[in-house]
Amino acid sequence: MSKVFVVDIDGVVCNHANAICEFVNNKFGINSQVDDVTSWDHDFGPISFVKAVEETYCREDFILGMPVELNAGWFLKDLAAQFEVILASARKPVCHAATRKWVEQNFGNFEVIFPGSKTDIQAHFLVDDNIDEVISFTKTSGCRTSFLFKRPWNNNADTARRLLPIPNCSSVVSFREIIEQIKGN
Ligand SMILES: [Mg+2]
Repeated sequence: MSKVFVVDIDGVVCNHANAICEFVNNKFGINSQVDDVTSWDHDFGPISFVKAVEETYCREDFILGMPVELNAGWFLKDLAAQFEVILASARKPVCHAATRKWVEQNFGNFEVIFPGSKTDIQAHFLVDDNIDEVISFTKTSGCRTSFLFKRPWNNNADTARRLLPIPNCSSVVSFREIIEQIKGN
């Protein structure tokens, strides 16, 4: 039986910050960029990141228009040749149907789930942009490996310090790096 590889959606295969910046820029006439989003609830000035997510994720047209992260399609295809791939997200129920549609339109036929925590999934590998998920996933079993997908909101000294002592846990800047690291599994 193949090992299971869990892939997070927002901040990993979906460039959600790009979509949110575009929404905020159009609505408020500002000029924000993904690199400005250096915290989970970035304050754009007229609106916070979390508030912008609440305003937009309930719209199917917004979800379906969200950009795919560079090389994500290649990455998922490559993984699927070796593992059972599950896409997992903490997105709220209001956009579950649209999220499934987005996955299908952009990547084809993949299982999509919305668990409370990715740690509860029976799986061997995880890639996520959330340091808490990444650490908790490996802590439950020594046989698990996780990757923190480095993004502006987790690229800081505190995150690096927390990640350092955790075995089987590393940060990566590209999908290619993950593929290289799991060779032979
Ligand atoms: Mg995420």
